Amino acid sequence: MAECIFCKIIKKEIPTKILYEDEELLAFPDIAPQAPIHILIVPKKHIANNLVLTEKDLALMPNVFKVINKLSQDLGIAQSGFRVVNNCLKDGGQAVDHMHFHLLGGRSMKWPPG
Ligand code: 5GP
Ligand code: ZN
Repeated sequence: MAECIFCKIIKKEIPTKILYEDEELLAFPDIAPQAPIHILIVPKKHIANNLVLTEKDLALMPNVFKVINKLSQDLGIAQSGFRVVNNCLKDGGQAVDHMHFHLLGGRSMKWPPG
C-alpha cells in the first residue's frame, strides 16, 4: 500500500503533527479542517473501509472510542460536545481508502449533514 496517504503518515514518511499514538492507532489534524477542531483517528493497519473489518480489526473499536474521548478532553471539547464521523465508500463521501474516524468540534454542528 505504498500509495496510501494515511499509511505514509503512519510510517512517518510524511511529517504530521501527531496528537495521539499507540500500537494500534494514530491521531493527527485533518489537512483541510471542517471545524475549529478536526482530528483524524486512524488504525495503523491498512483497512480499506468498514466493510472489510475482520473480527480482529473489530477489536480495535473500543480503543478508537477511548482515544476519541481522551482527545475530546485534551482538546477542550468534552464539555461542549463534538461529532464523530466515519465515511464509507462513495455515497458516504469516503475520499481516502484507509478507514478512519473524524473528530469534529469547536462549533455547533448541523443536522442533517450535507
Ligand atoms: P474521508 O472523506 O475519506 O472521510 O476523509 C479524508 C480526510 O483526509 C479529508 O478530510 C481530508 O482533508 C484528509 N486528508 C487527505 N489527505 C491528507 C493528508 O495528507 N494529511 C492530512 N492530515 N489529512 C489529509
Ligand atoms: Zn493505508
